[in-house]
Amino acid sequence: MIEDIFKNMPFFKAFLNAQNGRNFSYLIISEAFSASVVAKLFAQALLCKDMCGKCENCQKIALGSHPDVKIFPEKGRLLVEDSKKIVEESFVRPIFADKKVIIIQNLEDATEEAQNKLLKSLEEPNDSVTYILTTASPEKVLPTIRSRCIKIQIPPVKNSDVAPFLAGDEKTKTLALAIGGGQVAKTIELSKMENLADLVELAIGLVQDLSSSRQAVVWSKKLLDEKPSFALVMQILGLVIEDALALKTNKKAKIRLESESEKLAKIAGELSVKCLVRLSELIVEAMRQLSYNVNFPLIVDNLVMNILEVKYLCK
Ligand SMILES: [Zn+2]
Repeated sequence: MIEDIFKNMPFFKAFLNAQNGRNFSYLIISEAFSASVVAKLFAQALLCKDMCGKCENCQKIALGSHPDVKIFPEKGRLLVEDSKKIVEESFVRPIFADKKVIIIQNLEDATEEAQNKLLKSLEEPNDSVTYILTTASPEKVLPTIRSRCIKIQIPPVKNSDVAPFLAGDEKTKTLALAIGGGQVAKTIELSKMENLADLVELAIGLVQDLSSSRQAVVWSKKLLDEKPSFALVMQILGLVIEDALALKTNKKAKIRLESESEKLAKIAGELSVKCLVRLSELIVEAMRQLSYNVNFPLIVDNLVMNILEVKYLCK
């Protein structure tokens, strides 16, 4: 079970050891899927010390129907109305267990007003209430909230621990592990993508094969066709460049896309450090334009023409 991966990690044991009758609020920092799994595990540990998995507390939590474990927001992002509900909820005594756990997920999406409304409850929690907050981007959580919580950063998970949960063929699994970088949910999602190997090929091709303005049209078209996966292609392209840089600066470098090491070595042999650094700047620029909703074909054209220019200048 995926839960077991987390239960065996040092942060989890530290959490269990910290439960000496004192009541803290916690902020779990991790991608959403892992954070949600860990938040529920924390809730279970708070309501059943042995996490026996058999008692009514454990079973109700597993089913998501424990009356004293409340998860917010009920849908979408946390709004001030949700925060009001949370404050009201915190005054209702637990009905089944001897404690109540309020889980507030994806705090980075919450409005500032909603976050502000939670402050007082987090500062002076009711004795019977424990708050467990989660976020993928702690910098988007109000500093006043962050300072009131014990922060728990979930470290990346080892490849060997995620591997049994992956779908897809061996090549896809290998690539998913490399690109997922220890993020459980992301790695599992990537392993379900039938075209992951094609996207890696596309990213590598952009650096390696694109070399004349005649080819620009072809490569632009390829990128346009992958519009839904553009951000992912950019991430893979970033990895390709990082790996090529690592190979250039340190022969024994540990590279992420190991299965592509031959192609990466070729790229490292052909392009200068300066050129690779400039290429990584182009990715940042393309992602920035994407977040500003710049016309997509324009982003693609700029990117392809700029890659050509960089490669030409670095020759
Ligand atoms: Zn139990």
